[in-house]
Amino acid sequence: MMALTRRSVVVGAALSAAAGVAGCGQDTRRTGPAGPTPPLAGEPVIPLTDAKQASLTELFDGPNGLRLDIRYATANNFTGRVLYQSARAFLVGVAAQDLGKAIALAGKDGFGLTIFDAYRPWSVTKQLWDATPPAKRSFVANPARGSRHNRGCSVDIGLHRLSDGQLVPMPSAYDEFSDRAYRDFPGGSAQERQNRDRLTYYVESAGFFGIANEWWHFDHRDWAKYPVLDVVFSAL
Ligand SMILES: [Zn+2]
Repeated sequence: MMALTRRSVVVGAALSAAAGVAGCGQDTRRTGPAGPTPPLAGEPVIPLTDAKQASLTELFDGPNGLRLDIRYATANNFTGRVLYQSARAFLVGVAAQDLGKAIALAGKDGFGLTIFDAYRPWSVTKQLWDATPPAKRSFVANPARGSRHNRGCSVDIGLHRLSDGQLVPMPSAYDEFSDRAYRDFPGGSAQERQNRDRLTYYVESAGFFGIANEWWHFDHRDWAKYPVLDVVFSAL
């Protein structure tokens, strides 16, 4: 059984990249293609709210190494509040397909991918921004520009062992706003760093690229083709 199921077909949806570039946090991309079009300064993004313009593929728990642990659907996140009404995950079709490649790679080594977050409605990005102290806002996307999560092109991922389902330890917790979250943080144990680098290898080999300050966050390389959305899960 495939864990990736297409719920709706094709967007066409390529809007210009001009609307914004923030990922989970600021655009501190370390790797990846030469670079998408930068945002136009002072041009706030206008999210699309029409569900028909959102062509997203839902990700499901599956026996093939994909597991959902959607933290914003629980109070177990840095805001301490439930921000999603249901624990669901969506990506644009090409990103969902490519995630399947990462799952296959990880599976060969006995690991699975745990999804903490994927598509995030713009209004939730706004709530995260408002809940974050100004000094820590490099870790959250500015709603004026939107997040790549709002485009269904970003995914937050942890790694678990297929043998017992346990998440493997990383140098920091998910959504920990500290230096330990940096992808090149030299501290923590050798095992933690190896786990982080292993995750990066699987996901970057499949068409995504990581950002510098969050080991869990990956953007799909085609993110600039897709619009910022503000459509709730129940409408998808
Ligand atoms: Zn993220």
